Amino acid sequence: MNVLVLNCGSSSIKFQVLKMPEEKMLVKGIVERIGEPMSIIEGKTGEKKKRHERPVADHTEGIKEVLALLTDPELSVMKSVKEISAIGHRVVHGGETYSASVLITDAVITAIEDNIPLAPLHNPANLKGILACRETVPGIPQSAVFDTAFHQSMPDYAYLYAIPKSYYEKYKIRRFGFHGTSHKFVAHRAGDILKKPLSELKLITAHLGNGASITAVDRGRSVDTSMGFTPLEGLIMGTRSGDLDPAITVFLQRNEHIDCEEIDRLLNKKSGLIGLFEKSNDMRIIEEEYFKGDALAKLVLTMYAYRIVKYIGAYMAAMGGADALIYTAGVGENTPPLREIAADFLGGLGFGINKELNNEVIRKQDYTDISAEGASVKTIVIPTNEELAIARDTFELLQGRSK
Ligand code: ADP
Repeated sequence: MNVLVLNCGSSSIKFQVLKMPEEKMLVKGIVERIGEPMSIIEGKTGEKKKRHERPVADHTEGIKEVLALLTDPELSVMKSVKEISAIGHRVVHGGETYSASVLITDAVITAIEDNIPLAPLHNPANLKGILACRETVPGIPQSAVFDTAFHQSMPDYAYLYAIPKSYYEKYKIRRFGFHGTSHKFVAHRAGDILKKPLSELKLITAHLGNGASITAVDRGRSVDTSMGFTPLEGLIMGTRSGDLDPAITVFLQRNEHIDCEEIDRLLNKKSGLIGLFEKSNDMRIIEEEYFKGDALAKLVLTMYAYRIVKYIGAYMAAMGGADALIYTAGVGENTPPLREIAADFLGGLGFGINKELNNEVIRKQDYTDISAEGASVKTIVIPTNEELAIARDTFELLQGRSK
């Protein structure tokens, strides 16, 4: 059966079709610049690529473009949209409503709407994609796979903030965490690789992309994670500050005379790697400068690694140890010096990496165990695959329904 996986943003639709249960990716692509005067529509199979430009007014038209590309004779992915058995959507916020993926019903749509205040930029775009599919291909079942769902297992002492309790009751201000689909995916891969049931493993999973978060996975359950009420908390990211003294925001508002919108932009768009390094937030460029001996690049990489290291220490304390540290996503899979700096800090806690193996990790290869011989905590680089995770959940939900 073919599962269409969709990741709908405010002006883009990323898509993949996976043949299940074989887990074979048939095509991937994107519709970009929706609502702008000219949009880009692109699809790639193993051998062929098709790209064209035309105005795409909204998500409904965007979905129609995706379906047209899937049935395009040149790409020859499928003859008819009837060959799609289900559509799996990435949905950012399931709030406290969902701790697992679900088949979409009217009640699910209402719940995603109700959670819009928690993800005002993402949930509306995800909803547009769901409604556009309902309108365009009404007979195809759809599922919602939430970024927050995996972290719903956190205990209250980990997810509550020490602010007046009424704000949790009034606004649901609490830690939710994000990237759950990825943390869960690599945790399961780690179980396979270590040949142990997840119920016997204490894992720390570091998803380091442009956005970054780290999670304590205790016997298969997320028990703490670095992103919080929003994706701003925690690690240093491409353009986000991560943790800081909250009083800094008040100080800046007073002394720079800027309003809360500007503070939001400052911390989410102008901080992190771009704020520190200024030239770029692309880790490849920082890494290049680091190898040339640039002192600022070294400081930035060290700060980035040190923040990760502090969380690792905290999560080892929370879980009473760890069996393995997993690195994943763009930066996690591709930045050997970062993993080396982190390993140097972590030596006292039983970590250790084989520096040669660390330098040889090739992205998208299955996985690389970079642990040093004798290290009591393993370090493994595992490529993430959120689209596959969404296709698996969608496939399983559909199987469950037909039972
Ligand atoms: P996103 O977080 O945007 O979904 P990724 O997980 O691919 O996407 O992470 C993107 C980041 O990964 C880029 O900003 C870049 O800094 C980093 N990255 C990608 N490829 C490499 C590479 N080969 N070496 C170092 N960093 C890389």
